[in-house]
Amino acid sequence: MSTQLDVQFNSKHRKSPVPVIDAERCKGCGLCIHFCPKKIIGWASHSNTKSYIPAEVIKDKIDECTGCIACVLMCPDVAISVYSYSQVTDQSLHNSEAILL
Ligand code: SF4
Ligand code: SF4
Repeated sequence: MSTQLDVQFNSKHRKSPVPVIDAERCKGCGLCIHFCPKKIIGWASHSNTKSYIPAEVIKDKIDECTGCIACVLMCPDVAISVYSYSQVTDQSLHNSEAILL
């Protein structure tokens, strides 16, 4: 099964920052959706294991991420990371060892 991380990192033309939302940490407050200036975060179509509908990066808009980290700063559950494309490799990102912007 493809995870959101797979979808995000494998986006064809990835050169921009890589926002990643941990759906299991998300409590669905919506702050990241409200404050993302590029409006690239929306709601997932399914709830997480705690029955919250988590936020999700909109696949088709991910390349518009500017790396401003407004979403990271707003999230009360520390569920969002934004990675620099140039600082990560596929393997390091999957191992959560990538460097935060
Ligand atoms: S880093 Fe900025 S542009 Fe990118 S998803 Fe977060 S709030 Fe939106
Ligand atoms: S700000 Fe954090 S907890 Fe709130 S919806 Fe976004 S990812 Fe979920």
